Amino acid sequence: MADILVIGSLNADLVVRAPRFPKPGETISGEDLQIIPGGKGANQAVAAARQGASVAMIGRVGNDSFGTELINNLKRNNVDTSHVQIDLQSATGTATIIVDSNGQNSIVLSPGGNGKMSPADVTNASFSDHKLLLLQLEIPIETVFSATQRAKESGVRVLLNPAPARSLPDELISLPDFILPNETELSLMTNQPVNDISSAEKAAKTLLERGAQNVIVTLGANGALIVTTTQVTHVDAYKVDVIDTTAAGDAFIGGFASALLQDKSLEEAVRYGCACGALAATKFGAQPSLPTREEVERFIT
Ligand code: ADP
Repeated sequence: MADILVIGSLNADLVVRAPRFPKPGETISGEDLQIIPGGKGANQAVAAARQGASVAMIGRVGNDSFGTELINNLKRNNVDTSHVQIDLQSATGTATIIVDSNGQNSIVLSPGGNGKMSPADVTNASFSDHKLLLLQLEIPIETVFSATQRAKESGVRVLLNPAPARSLPDELISLPDFILPNETELSLMTNQPVNDISSAEKAAKTLLERGAQNVIVTLGANGALIVTTTQVTHVDAYKVDVIDTTAAGDAFIGGFASALLQDKSLEEAVRYGCACGALAATKFGAQPSLPTREEVERFIT
């Protein structure tokens, strides 16, 4: 029985590097296509599994070769995929990404099977077999809500990463044990600017007023901020040479979740998440950049 259940997205990231973005109607040549496993749900599942946690995933891929490859990739990373379904009516979720010579991204997201995840997909999940549920917002919000309710009824701790950014109903703010937004997500959820530690604290406190239990704001190179009813604690980032911050947040969450399972304190778990996020920022791509437990332990000692 897996300690962590992830209910969320699986995507194939289709990445082409090009000298610049094409203009409308224009064709330009880029480098060879790279197909990289991604999707916030799958990324977080792999991030936690690479830290040694036992992880199972519920999701939907489409009836194409990307879907099969994404499932195989999760298996190679020791994630239990017995509840990842192949949706015969859908394509697999993809992110078509153009990277220009300055490292800027331009992305078209196609939800595919992720968009078909319905509350019915989670009603039969045996939540009580798990200790933690990880959720993001790349599947329909009613499914996220239904999973949160079911998990709480079964006494399972819920971590909600409200990404991609959107506003949320109060119930989805108050039910999870932890809400983990980055600055952009926190800003959108609270309708106020978030661009440094003090504005993050102010915005996170408005989530507490709306019933949130524990808010952990990830602040990129500024580390992370813990805001709960009993503490406000800033945790510094680790200093690294940054190559690509894609999936830094996913690495953070996987690391944080695995550390919580080892009964580390909240601050220790956040520090561990920061180490995972920093290491992910030193490598290109989503899942290829997610560190292993050995890499993190070598890095922090
Ligand atoms: P997201 O990828 O969701 O935008 P962040 O950029 O906040 O999330 O990154 C998540 C975590 O990864 C941060 O809390 C931080 O600990 C680490 N991190 C991200 N970028 C850097 C960086 N440039 N230097 C060091 N650590 C980083």
